[in-house]
Amino acid sequence: MGIEEKIPSGVLLTSVEKLVNWTRKSSLWPATFGLACCAIEMMATGAARYDLARFGMEVFRASPRQADLMIVAGRVSQKMGPVLRQIYDQMPEPKWVLSMGVCASSGGMFNNYAIVQGVDHIVPVDMYLPGCPPRPEMLIDAILRLHDKIMAEPLGERRRKMIAESGEAAKRVGTIPSSYRYNKAKRREWLAAEREGTQEQLRIEKWMQEGAHK
Ligand code: SF4
Repeated sequence: MGIEEKIPSGVLLTSVEKLVNWTRKSSLWPATFGLACCAIEMMATGAARYDLARFGMEVFRASPRQADLMIVAGRVSQKMGPVLRQIYDQMPEPKWVLSMGVCASSGGMFNNYAIVQGVDHIVPVDMYLPGCPPRPEMLIDAILRLHDKIMAEPLGERRRKMIAESGEAAKRVGTIPSSYRYNKAKRREWLAAEREGTQEQLRIEKWMQEGAHK
């Protein structure tokens, strides 16, 4: 992907890795690309109330050449498939794909011949976001999880090693909800629950305690 791939592993690579990943996650530029109703939520996420500018992503690029994130917002018709793939191919590396909503992820309720049954038939997907439509808060959460994933992406020798091994480290990334990730005490609780396999229980109990459901 660049000069960082040539650096041998060690302290220097670790520092370069962190810096490169931090710059990448802090300046994700999405391609202007909306396919259906989910796109309205995506537009709302970019507007003043939710303010994607906080993450350096307010400008949806009009050219795929300047974009490194494709948010597939809506159902993908068979006719649109080749166009979507062409836009993806025109985006420079490294690039990421976020499948927004149940239609993009699996065809959703449109189980018919006209709709692609999951955009991962056409492009590799880095993050799936459920919901119909997902609210802007959910899209922001998916973006923050993608940030985590990018931050943990190894480069150079480590990348080669990870691909050669099982890729377990990659699967682990982005599994902590953002409300737990950025709070030290809650993060510790989550990791402890994860060791016991009781994360969902913890999440529900906390949700009830905090009265978020009222
Ligand atoms: S998931 Fe729902 S909101 Fe999104 S494109 Fe499909 S039908 Fe529309």
